[in-house]
Amino acid sequence: MPEEPYLVLARKWRPQAFDDVIGQVHITRTLQNAIEAGRIGHAFLFIGSRGIGKTTTARVLAKALNCTAGDSATPNPCGECDNCTAIAAGNSMDVIEIDGASNNSVEDVRQIRENVRLVPSQSRYKIYVIDEVHQLSSSAFNALLKTLEEPPEHAIFIMATTESHKVPATIISRCQRYDFRRVSLDDLIALLKRVLANETVTATDEALRAIARASDGGVRDAESILEQLVTYCDKTIEFKDVVDVLGLVDWAVLNEMAEAILAQDVGAALHIVEQVTASGKDLSQFVQDLLGHYRNMLICKTTDAKDLLGLPEEDLAALKQQSETYSLTKLIRLVEQFAELTKDFDSQLAQRIALESLLIRISKVSVEMSIDAILEKLVQLGAGGIAGAPDPPSSTTQRSVGAAVLAEALPMEPISESTDTPNSKPGITVSNDNLREHWLTITHAIAQENLKVGVALGRAHPSGIDGDALCIAFTDANKPSRESLERVDSRSVIDTLLQSLTANLRTYKIEGNREPSPANSMSETDNDNPGKTSRHHVAAKDAEEAMTDPHVAKVVEVFRGEIVDIKHPPPGA
Ligand SMILES: [Zn+2]
Repeated sequence: MPEEPYLVLARKWRPQAFDDVIGQVHITRTLQNAIEAGRIGHAFLFIGSRGIGKTTTARVLAKALNCTAGDSATPNPCGECDNCTAIAAGNSMDVIEIDGASNNSVEDVRQIRENVRLVPSQSRYKIYVIDEVHQLSSSAFNALLKTLEEPPEHAIFIMATTESHKVPATIISRCQRYDFRRVSLDDLIALLKRVLANETVTATDEALRAIARASDGGVRDAESILEQLVTYCDKTIEFKDVVDVLGLVDWAVLNEMAEAILAQDVGAALHIVEQVTASGKDLSQFVQDLLGHYRNMLICKTTDAKDLLGLPEEDLAALKQQSETYSLTKLIRLVEQFAELTKDFDSQLAQRIALESLLIRISKVSVEMSIDAILEKLVQLGAGGIAGAPDPPSSTTQRSVGAAVLAEALPMEPISESTDTPNSKPGITVSNDNLREHWLTITHAIAQENLKVGVALGRAHPSGIDGDALCIAFTDANKPSRESLERVDSRSVIDTLLQSLTANLRTYKIEGNREPSPANSMSETDNDNPGKTSRHHVAAKDAEEAMTDPHVAKVVEVFRGEIVDIKHPPPGA
């Protein structure tokens, strides 16, 4: 059975009875009731993450089944008979512990199958405890299944796994299944207190809470951390000792960081990273703590489920108050982004860079903007450079206001730098073969240069390359866009852009009306496919009308969305 390095405290305090098992009452009580009622299955499956009491419970169960204090299995093993003491010491002849990771061959399981026929030497049951059972090979599982199908009366299998999805359904269906939970903060603290009660070292409540928090619901981790601290401290374990030993970041620093992020203060945020790095703390732990902090805030904001947090009342109140200062979208985004960040950690440097770039990104207004806010901004801009007078013909050095705002507000596709510095780069060579893949880049670049022209172009579909000309076509529905692209000022914008962006295109041609190919079109409407069942809630006619608004069209294009509903502003708004 795999063990953490020898743990004095854990050994000393390993639960000897069901009541001593921490935080799994839902399981221990069921097991006790089953034993009491004489309903003892032949196969148990214990599922749950590592270090939360699966093997411990398996040993207590083994004792309960084989305890000789009474005439039969007992819900409360005595802990003193030969069988109880032998099981506790790990040398009972009839309780066989097998590590699935190192005994996973079909030969190993065949041996179990042969041994299982032999009656137990000095007990009621012959008990096989198979840890990490998911690691058995598939042929070993098959062999095991045969035994489970017709187990001898005296045989009991207790299997434990951290990855139940890797255990074949045929095995699971033959087992009584028990799902172990991560242990709550309060239960862990109670356990730590109990362990310490018999030691000469004491601990402050703050320190115990920090240990419990760091062990993330794992009993074995909590015990192992406590063990380190008992060795580290002379008399009293204090909060700062826990912080030192575990390389944790102080809560105050976490709060400072949360405030810097909220205030979009990049300087302050980066200084905190510097501070954390300089003090030799573990950055990945810091990020995980921050992630936990935001996750708690998010839960606080969205539910009343205090049990999900395992925090004392005063912490809860403070968290609740903090969560009010964040919008829900912001919190969700923070959690998602920090979660994403923790996936990529491999080196300290990579961590730092990833963290810093994330901090900058989330401190920018643009990323936080909701779609509503973007739409509002676009509508406000309607009076300016977009829906009003056409842009100056050669606005190649200065982008229109609308485009600039959009470029900032929306995550545009990366665009070649040549849009800003014409003739400095040879540009892309666009052919009939790769036209589709460059189409978005071209329309985006043009939208950045001149939103109105870009939007109009976005409603066209590319139909091919003819010499140095890009051929585009419109459907009837997009007649206004077609007309706007026939104008001289539009021509100037597009031609200039094509020349700077591409190596081979100088201009464009608008071809006669034709139906778009569905894959290429970004302006396809239900009218184009009258036979298709509409998934839109909105009449195609209304959607088309809405699309004639360049702001709407742009949003649809950038988000690759579709119009599913139309709401009109109240009169006077
Ligand atoms: Zn006993």
